[in-house]
Amino acid sequence: MMRLNRLSRITLTGLSLWLASSTAISQENFRPYPDDLLSRVRSAAQSLPGDLPQSIGFAKVAESHRPYSDIIEDGSDEQFISARAAFQIRYGRSTIMLDSGMDEEVHRYYGFGRTEPYFAETNKSLQQALFDAEKIIITHEHGDHVSGVIRSPYFRQLAPKTIVTEAQIESLVERPQLPQIQLTAEQADQFVVVEYGLIHAVAPGIVLIKSPGHTAGHQMVYVQLTGNREYLFIGDIGWSLDNITEQKLRPTQTIARIGEDPNALMLQMQWIKDRMDQDGLILVPSHDDLLLKKYAEEGILSDSLRL
Ligand SMILES: [Zn+2]
Repeated sequence: MMRLNRLSRITLTGLSLWLASSTAISQENFRPYPDDLLSRVRSAAQSLPGDLPQSIGFAKVAESHRPYSDIIEDGSDEQFISARAAFQIRYGRSTIMLDSGMDEEVHRYYGFGRTEPYFAETNKSLQQALFDAEKIIITHEHGDHVSGVIRSPYFRQLAPKTIVTEAQIESLVERPQLPQIQLTAEQADQFVVVEYGLIHAVAPGIVLIKSPGHTAGHQMVYVQLTGNREYLFIGDIGWSLDNITEQKLRPTQTIARIGEDPNALMLQMQWIKDRMDQDGLILVPSHDDLLLKKYAEEGILSDSLRL
């Protein structure tokens, strides 16, 4: 089906579109979000029966140290600490995990030959939290987000409660970011695969928002807590909050290395900034270590897991 769409686009609009889609592999053309998206997301968050979640915690399993110039256009040579984190959304009696961390072997892949901090004990706790969770949501199909499920000793318990999209599964089977996270067809069958248009409510207060661009299967996650505090987990649309506040993409060579769709990312970053400025949503990029620390100090996120 997807292949057929691509073929018909080629015949309709010619070579330039084909070239564009061959760099950003299998990513459909992204259109700007509709004006009423947030109100639709808010209604969806209220659409499922049950109490809203009460709080959110996170666990940082590793750090990558990169020059800020790898993170943002025109960045300095100063060091940026990229936190490798997963999040725990807590209800009265249950939890839903957002992303899954990674083991040390996968972490080494992101070191490009350097040894960087890895917190094995925290990852052990994270594995326990994943085991105990009711559901697991994956922002996108990169190793630092999905390995904690795929390479877990508890894979058989985790996969049947892990919600993934067709695009995520397709990437993991056909063109995984690294060989260690490639899924066989038999493994892929064990996941809960959801396909949806633009938004999808997974639990009270939690709504997925499709945002292809960083990867084909990337999605954001909106979370509303009791007391109406609203969070937008923006995954890897920007690695730093600065990407959003300054409306700057990653540098061209990083975009090319990942195979991103910069136009889609820019449209998403504009929408995200407006939701922060106009609607007061709390933005949570996956990897902004300083921001996660600040949120922990302010009580916006807890820096531990509830086990
Ligand atoms: Zn990431």
